[in-house]
Amino acid sequence: MSKPRLDTLYDTSEIRDIWEKNQTVPCIKDPKEGLITPNTYRANKNSKPCPYCGKKMVHGRKYSTKSKTEARRRGYEYKRVDGKLDINQAGLLYFHQNYVTIDHKLNKARFPEKMFDYDNLEAICWRCNNQKSDNLMFELEHKLEHLKSLKESVFKRYPNPH
Ligand SMILES: [Zn+2]
Repeated sequence: MSKPRLDTLYDTSEIRDIWEKNQTVPCIKDPKEGLITPNTYRANKNSKPCPYCGKKMVHGRKYSTKSKTEARRRGYEYKRVDGKLDINQAGLLYFHQNYVTIDHKLNKARFPEKMFDYDNLEAICWRCNNQKSDNLMFELEHKLEHLKSLKESVFKRYPNPH
């Protein structure tokens, strides 16, 4: 299946910079908690299931390490869709494969005005986020898988009388 790529309308690095600089700024309007920071948003999703893979997401210092050897020992390494082994990395730190990340339903580079819009945010694990990046079909494929499994479970429950 082809992976359609849309041209970004804004300078991606500039948008990313704005996003990074606001990680500790209360700029997300949570309907229950009021204004929270992106960091708090992630922390609130600790131990919640990832909507894509269903694995429990993790958050916090203890789910990262500076040592690649230690990261491997802890099982942070995983196989990407292309078959290559990978470990989530940011700066000098290696992270748990199901670490919480914030995904923008509408890409922040294309819709910067929705960058901190609560309804445009979704917590997804880092591993799924990696798979999702640059693959606009990802969400659709997952929804399709979900529908197929729903169909199967319904058919099992209500077998065809013929
Ligand atoms: Zn996931």
